[in-house]
Amino acid sequence: MSASAVDADVVVVGGGTAGLQAALQLARVGRSVVLLERRAEGKSGARWCNGTVAWQFERAGLAPPVAPELRAAGGAAHMISPTGAHRFTIGASPIGEVDMRALVDRLQRDAVAAGVDIRWGVTDIDVELTRGRPTSLTATQDGELLTVSGRLFVDAAGYTGVIRDQVPALVTLCPEVTATDLCSAQQLVLHVDDPEGARRYLAEQGAEPGDAIIAIGMAGGYSTVNINVDEALEEVAVLTGSIPALGHASGPELLKAVRDEHPWMGRTIFGGGGLIPLRRTYDRFTAPGIALVGDAACQVMPGHGSGIGFGLIAGKVLAEAVAGAADPGGPDVLWRYQASYLREFGGTLAGYDAIRRMSVKLGPDGVEELFASGVFSPALVLPGLDQKVAALGPSDTAAAARALAGRPRIAKVVVPALAALASAQALYRTYPRTPSPRAFATWAASSRALLPRQGAAG
Ligand SMILES: Cc1cc2nc3c(=O)[nH]c(=O)nc-3n(C[C@H](O)[C@H](O)[C@H](O)COP(=O)(O)OP(=O)(O)OC[C@H]3O[C@@H](n4cnc5c(N)ncnc54)[C@H](O)[C@@H]3O)c2cc1C
Repeated sequence: MSASAVDADVVVVGGGTAGLQAALQLARVGRSVVLLERRAEGKSGARWCNGTVAWQFERAGLAPPVAPELRAAGGAAHMISPTGAHRFTIGASPIGEVDMRALVDRLQRDAVAAGVDIRWGVTDIDVELTRGRPTSLTATQDGELLTVSGRLFVDAAGYTGVIRDQVPALVTLCPEVTATDLCSAQQLVLHVDDPEGARRYLAEQGAEPGDAIIAIGMAGGYSTVNINVDEALEEVAVLTGSIPALGHASGPELLKAVRDEHPWMGRTIFGGGGLIPLRRTYDRFTAPGIALVGDAACQVMPGHGSGIGFGLIAGKVLAEAVAGAADPGGPDVLWRYQASYLREFGGTLAGYDAIRRMSVKLGPDGVEELFASGVFSPALVLPGLDQKVAALGPSDTAAAARALAGRPRIAKVVVPALAALASAQALYRTYPRTPSPRAFATWAASSRALLPRQGAAG
């Protein structure tokens, strides 16, 4: 086998949105970067449509998507209960539907323009350690042995990770995501074969073309079927998701059922599917010489399994921490990335993990009751769609308290989850700024007291 070697400041593994963005931002702060991706050029990362919010692009140092990358934005979102008996509408959703193929292309082009050396079709990655710190890796590319050395290794290979398991310091900190914390999702853009059928469906739902019709809780408390017919009645985007390990139909099974029920939906134009990690982001996702970004760090908003925005932000925060450092993989530098990220966003990710677990525990009946009670309301849902935490105003809080007072069955599940949503914000603002084992142990003890236990179902 022939061999080649390359050396860079930073080696990124995985060319999805999180890896390309980390590579781009690190190159922009003057680092030499090599990115290794298993798939062929033009096939990496998500290949379907994802809902994203503009503020996350801005925080990530990226221009928010515009058409044709942005396929739809600003329509109404109709939220529908498990039986369909209860519903409410949010007038203008903050979510924009983004064609991930175009976003991945944009990040790739920008990364190459910034000087990133991207290697496609790279497999069999084996990390070499020096005193526990990754210092090089070997891999195969086009039948050739490739050796890559660097000061910082970034694992951006998706929820299973690739290098984090090979670094002993991270093995216990970043355990494999348990099956009950994995959402099976599918998203397809389909041709509308029968526009009249689509029009009738929209009329039945009280919806306009361009609106999102979001049914939840039909296959376990944490599940969704989201249907969005475009303005021209030519295409319909369908997203489904659930947690099959809890005994429910998978995302692809739900999607098949939707197509069977709606014969006006025709052939697939594009789309795909996969598993989304729903546990709250790891308490630590760095060790000397290695940092995780994106799904590899579980940087996903668990309330609706949205990992694009928080994964993009991670690359920016990592580059901010590394800029100007003599050793980009130094423990203090990488702690700065971890602490900045968690202090700013950890509370949102952990808080919505509590909400996700709440919906699992409630199950379809409890979610139905949540709708019926009025607690599940635009005031509660809108910040979640925007991937933020916002306190309810006094009148909404009073109304929710009155509604819950008469419904002890759901109150005992909902009240602790709403309390965790609020307390997570305060907890993460105290995440230690420096790598002090004592300060971290104190923080971790508080997190165990305030937040749901990880790894446990529901
Ligand atoms: C159907 C579906 C719908 C979704 N909807 C939304 C949504 O509406 N909004 C939202 O924000 N998020 C959504 N998500 C989640 C979102 O897609 C992910 O959080 C996001 O793609 C994660 O990005 P990433 O770069 O971390 O990982 P990935 O996109 O998984 O990219 C990882 C890359 O690493 C590469 N790789 C893997 N192993 C290796 C290896 N051994 N060597 C080299 N390279 C490797 C892979 O080929 C891939 O290109 C959805 C997910 C699914 C499945």
